[in-house]
Amino acid sequence: MHTSPPAWVADGARHVWLPYAQMKTAAPPLPVVRTHGSRIELADGRSLVDGVASWWTACHGYNHPAIAQAVRDQLDAVPHVMFGGLTHEPAARLAQRLCALLGPGFDRVFYTDSGSVAVEVAMKMAVQFWLNQGERQRSHFLAFRGGYHGDTFGTMAVCDPEDGMHSLFRGLLTAHVIAPLPRDDASAAELDALLGRHAHELAGILVEPLVQGAGGMLMHPPEVLARLRALADRHGLLLIYDEIFTGFGRTGTMFAFEQADARPDIVTLSKALTGGTLPLAATVASQRVFDGFWSDDPGHALMHGPTFMGNALACAAANASLDLFEREPRLRQVAALSRALEAGLAPCRELPWVRDVRVLGAIAAIELAGPFDRDALRARLVDAGVWVRPFGNIVYLTPAFTIGQDDLDFLIDAVVGVLQGMQAPAG
Ligand SMILES: *Cc1c(COP(=O)(O)O)cnc(C)c1O
Repeated sequence: MHTSPPAWVADGARHVWLPYAQMKTAAPPLPVVRTHGSRIELADGRSLVDGVASWWTACHGYNHPAIAQAVRDQLDAVPHVMFGGLTHEPAARLAQRLCALLGPGFDRVFYTDSGSVAVEVAMKMAVQFWLNQGERQRSHFLAFRGGYHGDTFGTMAVCDPEDGMHSLFRGLLTAHVIAPLPRDDASAAELDALLGRHAHELAGILVEPLVQGAGGMLMHPPEVLARLRALADRHGLLLIYDEIFTGFGRTGTMFAFEQADARPDIVTLSKALTGGTLPLAATVASQRVFDGFWSDDPGHALMHGPTFMGNALACAAANASLDLFEREPRLRQVAALSRALEAGLAPCRELPWVRDVRVLGAIAAIELAGPFDRDALRARLVDAGVWVRPFGNIVYLTPAFTIGQDDLDFLIDAVVGVLQGMQAPAG
């Protein structure tokens, strides 16, 4: 059933500005009319099996009835009230539940409405933590090559300097200290020396635990986090984990840092927080960080407060999502998905134009060896009936944890088939 596109497609195309897209040459976006489970239904009647879960947010699949019902109920009661001077049950309950889930050492939740802003708040928190103690020079961070923390000016400056937008906005971005991850003793010693020179001007260390997501699905072992914790302690720095991608089961544990014996001082959450339904983010601080703001001086208050902070609909969705994690065997599903991705994608390892296949939890990344026609590859994947959106030289799968066996088999077969049919990349 292929019908002509509805009128809103052409009308919108004249006015909508697309993300990360050269508007002159970008393929038009596919019009979506319905989602359900791991399916995206297009206006022309096609149904795609979704391999991305909408940038890793829809961890329970699309349109989960329990989340939909919670949002509907909340819509009738309190859709939104300002969070300055007012509070409501969904935000209060969610804060308590997030701290309990994160475990000992996490005591305070600051809500925002996007991941980038949650990282901005973490950075502001860390800088002001030191300011409140009279340490005025600690305005920089140690961050890592391959990292991605958002698109705002503050967060662009802590992204990978080559992949990120540093060169484009040179002069406007703070020059933070960006180093390779300490993957072995030698690089840890180098980082130790680097911190010896810079620690006095640093507020903290910022890292995505276990997987650097948008920077290329680069994975590192938990020991790296233990090294970072030791270095942070040795040089008196706060350690910030950006779990916006890795949080809520994606790496096989509820939070990636549970796989390491190294807890952070601040953690940022977003992406799957509401099960992919509404924008919400949180910056969660330890008691020690919070105590740095506890004072009789109003100037020591954390100076931030987004308009839609603690949005009640989003908090209700997040509570419903946490209920699903409690009620349903999500982490077991992630473990099964992990095994299926590992086994199913193994044939890609044989292809000369594939450099690496790596899987952690419900994340699979196929790294291609050279440059290739990304637009053509994206189109071939859609023609094969799947929604998978390669970036850089990475083809990745981050499906919903609830994807059914048939859809998963179809997804894996489609990706393997398309990659097997690729030409060797042109030089
Ligand atoms: C997506 C992401 C962000 C930015 O979140 P937005 O909601 O897009 O602003 C920050 N950090 C990590 C690790 C992410 O994956």
